[in-house]
Amino acid sequence: MDIFESLESEVRCYCRNWDTVFERAAGSMIYGEDGREYVDFFSGAGALNYGHNHPALLRPLVEYLLSGAVVHSLDMKTAAKRRFLETFHELILKPRDLDYKVMFPGPTGTNCVEAALKLARKVTGRPHILGFTNAFHGMTLGSLAVTGNSMKRHGAGVPLSNASSIPYDGFLDGGAPDFQWLRLALDDRGSGLEKPAAIIVETVQGEGGLRAARAAWLRELSDICHQHGILLIVDDVQAGCGRTGTFFSFEESGIVPDIVCLSKSISGFGLPLALTLFKRELDVWKPGEHNGTFRGHNLAFVTGAAALEHFWQDRHFEARIAARADQLQAGLARIADAADGATVRGRGLLAGIHYTDANAAGKIAAEAFARGLLVETSGPEDEVLKTMPALTISAEDLGRGLAILAGAAESVTGTGRRTVLKTVA
Ligand code: PMP
Repeated sequence: MDIFESLESEVRCYCRNWDTVFERAAGSMIYGEDGREYVDFFSGAGALNYGHNHPALLRPLVEYLLSGAVVHSLDMKTAAKRRFLETFHELILKPRDLDYKVMFPGPTGTNCVEAALKLARKVTGRPHILGFTNAFHGMTLGSLAVTGNSMKRHGAGVPLSNASSIPYDGFLDGGAPDFQWLRLALDDRGSGLEKPAAIIVETVQGEGGLRAARAAWLRELSDICHQHGILLIVDDVQAGCGRTGTFFSFEESGIVPDIVCLSKSISGFGLPLALTLFKRELDVWKPGEHNGTFRGHNLAFVTGAAALEHFWQDRHFEARIAARADQLQAGLARIADAADGATVRGRGLLAGIHYTDANAAGKIAAEAFARGLLVETSGPEDEVLKTMPALTISAEDLGRGLAILAGAAESVTGTGRRTVLKTVA
């Protein structure tokens, strides 16, 4: 038994599936101390959109540390924070005409969701929040209350209250018109639905099985929220920062959420940072009302500003993401084609394969690891194979990872539907 097993809590998770000791990483490759190398289709669960140790981020980080600049400063003013705010405003908010205020909650996804929920309740004076089936918003009590997964909800140990769940796009398999129940329930005083302060949504459900909401569905949701004075929160913790092809995942739909949650890749380097963005008129916080020791960490500001400058200033960056996304989707389609009933899900570089055999994805991920690829599963039964390569991955590394994945999938699901059909014929 090693120290990880003897000392670290049973709660540990990823290290069980990937039982090796990682030592070094560069770009889309990560290396074990036994010398084995892995193509990384996991990207720190979305915290490493620009790969590992990108030199354009590493260099300013090391320079900052060696310069004697301030590392920790709660929410005091620092040059690093000024630069980050200016860069975020110039390169992200202004070009998209988004007049958001920026709040730094504690540096995790769940903390920026908690801040969003608190703010929505404070602004509207209403406690209830609606979330969606199979949503994932984090592990603290407020976020868990709008999370679908029953195992994770159960971990709370107390009743999760002031929230309920409504069907996400595709959950009813086209069995009812979009938002039929929500529209009727909001208009009917006998429905028993407490008017919510907000509705919180992921445009692609990263943990919940990679269902992607259609742009028209998101627009209808936004319209309903406007009509009823309900705030719309987009949780872009995983799908944001370019993962689906544009900086914010909702850009394609044209909606403008009232509140946006960002974390994971906003520091660009895997350093903890989170932002809750909201429309200017919603900024009703009292000073210190959502406090925390590690809000806005200077090292994360340095790499975050460097990432925005290096990648998002470049007009061609989105086109490069789109090219890799096409390559990924085509590769996944070929793999899915080989298994009965398997379908490709997701959007951009947040994509995967849904298998009808709930055990297939887990087996494929394990086999892929044995062959040199990090890839995880998603969905309530872990029935979806989830790929999330770095946005900066080369065509060559992406091809290499897809080839490993195809081999692993074939070894688990058989030689493929087409071949099987030929044999039968
Ligand atoms: N929201 C979404 C959409 C997420 O995917 C996650 C993390 N997987 C979170 C919130 C929670 O983020 P964190 O783990 O940093 O608390």
